[in-house]
Amino acid sequence: MIVLDLEFNSGMYGERLEEVLQIGAVKCQRLGGPVTDTFNAYIRPRVHKRLSPGARVLPELEECEKSALTFADALESFVAWCGGETRFAEWGRDDFRILARCAAYFGLHYDYPRRCLDVQAAFSRTLEHVNGIQLYAACDYCRIPDSFVFHNALNDAVYTCLVGGFTSAEAREASAFTMTDEDVFPVPKPRKPRRGEWRIGPFDSRERALNNMGSRRAVCPRCKTVSRVADWYTADGKTYYSPFSCDGHGRFIRRLQLVRQPDGAYWTYNEVVEATPENLRRLSRAEAAQRYSCQRPPAKPPKRRRRERRIKRK
Ligand SMILES: [Zn+2]
Repeated sequence: MIVLDLEFNSGMYGERLEEVLQIGAVKCQRLGGPVTDTFNAYIRPRVHKRLSPGARVLPELEECEKSALTFADALESFVAWCGGETRFAEWGRDDFRILARCAAYFGLHYDYPRRCLDVQAAFSRTLEHVNGIQLYAACDYCRIPDSFVFHNALNDAVYTCLVGGFTSAEAREASAFTMTDEDVFPVPKPRKPRRGEWRIGPFDSRERALNNMGSRRAVCPRCKTVSRVADWYTADGKTYYSPFSCDGHGRFIRRLQLVRQPDGAYWTYNEVVEATPENLRRLSRAEAAQRYSCQRPPAKPPKRRRRERRIKRK
């Protein structure tokens, strides 16, 4: 069995990535030991410039910063070290996922384990305690001497292996979980509409998104009179404009932002904006660039009423 632990930096701004800084792992015949082999790699950080609060307190930061090892090299050696092993464990459910996401970020192929044991959950189940016990607290409970500093990936992998020795077979059975691409690489949800905006979707094509009657709805902000957009104008294929006016309240502009999600679905974010000089400039730039004429949705086929004939049998 292989027990994995990672240290990583989530960064502070921008890029959402848990950048792996250390891979630590042990091989054992069973949880509780004996440990038959160890793996340790300090990785030089290269994505995030700033450290997240969790990363700032890592005891081995200096080792990572002076390491020459890239994530790609570290992952390759880790996979080679794992060999044909098919049983995996970790404290919680995050580390293999983080490793897989980091690999995907760097464009690397990594065949992450599809099944893994959550030692933290197994320990909680054994104690009939709510889940979420910290590793150091579990060690303390089991009276494992804290000879090695915590939050070093290799040390934490050793501790996880040792604490695992205190779990019951039933608890381990109940704490194995499966990993699929859907939960390792979840598709981010489309952003929430801002105040004054309305969101419509998902659509399977750009045309359907732009033709949708809800996307084309233009409401006068003063009297709520509704009209429909007939033509969209865009300069960049992302923000679409269309002028409209209300008899009583003058000119307004419909603005539509077309967003394509990583899963390929289109969403529209819609709002009515005032015809300010700035907005009129944007509109005329779009009008000069590209027009999209909306199509009426195809007429629905007329419903046929079928009169059921009752055949009475005598
Ligand atoms: Zn009006």
